[in-house]
Amino acid sequence: MSETKKYAEVIFLGTGSAFPSRSYNACYAIRVGSLLWLTDGGGGNGIFPALAKADINPAELHHIFLSHAHTDHIFGLVWIIRKIVHLRMQGLYPDSIYIYANSEAAHALREICRLTFLESYYLTFLQVAEFRPANPGDSYQLKDLTIEFFDAGSENVSQSGFRMSLPDGKSIVALGDEALTTKNMMEVKGADTLICGAFCRYADRNVYKPYEKHHWTVKDVAEIASKIDVNMLILIHSEDQTPDKSLVYRAEAAEYFKGRVIIPNDGEIYRVE
Ligand SMILES: [Zn+2]
Repeated sequence: MSETKKYAEVIFLGTGSAFPSRSYNACYAIRVGSLLWLTDGGGGNGIFPALAKADINPAELHHIFLSHAHTDHIFGLVWIIRKIVHLRMQGLYPDSIYIYANSEAAHALREICRLTFLESYYLTFLQVAEFRPANPGDSYQLKDLTIEFFDAGSENVSQSGFRMSLPDGKSIVALGDEALTTKNMMEVKGADTLICGAFCRYADRNVYKPYEKHHWTVKDVAEIASKIDVNMLILIHSEDQTPDKSLVYRAEAAEYFKGRVIIPNDGEIYRVE
């Protein structure tokens, strides 16, 4: 990968919701030049084949963001951390791993590691990991990127979203598994690219029952996106049963939103522009 490449690409390691049957749970890495930013880890050690397929070595991961402490987001990170601790013990991971998480998510991640790692692994984890608060208002400068965190407006958990300002002036805003709603729309306003959840089509709401699960539909998200000046919409964390999902989701979105819409599949990479 060229060091001079400064545009961002989003590498979708998983795109599914909490109970996927044909996909891995939604998580992705954003690569800008030599910097890799992992958002969530999915729900288990299925993260390893997903990383391998994307040609990402866990030793390359130094910035990991956990949006919230739900099963389908946190446990893949526990496995990644365990792997990094293992590499550290072998002398193969000399630097720190920076873990960005809000207070609740950081507490859960620390506790799961404490309760499930061998003591020697846990002590090494404390040496190698540096937690960086990702509560609303926290921000970080990583080389020529700026990351600012905000409340993603979840109804049932403390969830952080982020706005990543890229070297070319473009922005990526991400809402974890939360949809674009009236609660978070002002944080998202003007985003060049928005990555957020959309559980299913509005047309299929009686099949998948998104509203019972605090999730929203493609139509719901597309309607709001059309009002707040978003260029490109990337929808993840959805059911994986619909045939031709990408095609039919985009058709529903296009009725309300005129910008570009991407419905990624696991393993796909999209350049942000
Ligand atoms: Zn989720």
